Amino acid sequence: MSVHYERIALIGLGLIASSMHWAIKRGNLGAHVVGYARSAETRDVAREIGLCDTVVDSLAEVVRNADLVVLAMPIGAMEDVARNIAPHLKPGATVTDVGSVKRAVIEAVAPHIPDGVHFIPGHPLAGTEHSGPRSGFAELFDNRWCLLVPDESTDPDALGRLTEFWEALGAHVDVMDPDHHDLVLAVTSHAPHLIAYTMVGVADDLRRVTDSEVIKYSAAGFRDFTRIAASDPTMWRDVFLTNKDATLEILGRFTEELFALQRAIRTGDGEHLFDYFTRTRAIRRGIIEAGQDTAAPDFGRGGSKG
Ligand code: NAP
Repeated sequence: MSVHYERIALIGLGLIASSMHWAIKRGNLGAHVVGYARSAETRDVAREIGLCDTVVDSLAEVVRNADLVVLAMPIGAMEDVARNIAPHLKPGATVTDVGSVKRAVIEAVAPHIPDGVHFIPGHPLAGTEHSGPRSGFAELFDNRWCLLVPDESTDPDALGRLTEFWEALGAHVDVMDPDHHDLVLAVTSHAPHLIAYTMVGVADDLRRVTDSEVIKYSAAGFRDFTRIAASDPTMWRDVFLTNKDATLEILGRFTEELFALQRAIRTGDGEHLFDYFTRTRAIRRGIIEAGQDTAAPDFGRGGSKG
């Protein structure tokens, strides 16, 4: 495998960055990986488990001479990090990110990127409910999409290199406009997470009434919601604060559909319910056919993939 970047800086050493590191090593990409996280505790864990070839203690050090810099921390922290690394970036380097929202990241980061450094936002559509430096694994991106968000001024060579890099980590790459990205993700990820958080919150309130039966008899539907609702609170707070419009738009539509289903239940309109559930079942089949999940009873997660 060819060397895409000689020196790669991972800033933030959680699920996504640690998975990137293990996938870089699995692919024998030949890069020297340098890592940095905010807390000394996380940096110590990284050193202990061999996460990154070198772990350093400052933002200035992590980006020094790096050919690729990956911002892999919660979205709310990205502007500060971008401001602090800017004076230390190597001319000709590429800066990318893995944030789950794109328009807000571009507005926060792009103004700080100096001339001569390429900024190409990105988002790997892969994750689990786990977080932190110990949660990553090399297969996370296999057969998953990574969306890159260049603009008209993006250097085609830099984009080509980043595309090949993500492909070497196992992902398929597509290019998307930031606003379209944020709308698509509001439908496929952000609104579903909010609904899961709500459902688990409601069940928790009810638990006081049902005396822990919610936990004891937890069935597949509720269990799946709890898995999603166990996701990192900081990351998801930032997603909703930064993808406000698209999420509210989708939640508005969701509420209308929910009212229609509520009415069908109240009026005993079985045909409406049956037709609706038939339509949604076809979507599940489509996802399996597209290779984005398996038909196994545990949704093929085996406790890992999200
Ligand atoms: P994570 O496991 O919670 O780890 C976050 C990391 O960022 C931690 O190492 C944390 O350091 C570090 N960090 C926080 N603030 C920082 C700062 N100011 N400077 C430097 N490092 C800082 O996070 P993750 O799940 O990998 O998510 C990272 C990004 O990927 C987020 O933007 C998220 O939207 C995106 N993403 C997540 C998923 C998912 O399913 N998890 C999927 C796709 C994309 P400490 O440990 O020292 O606090």
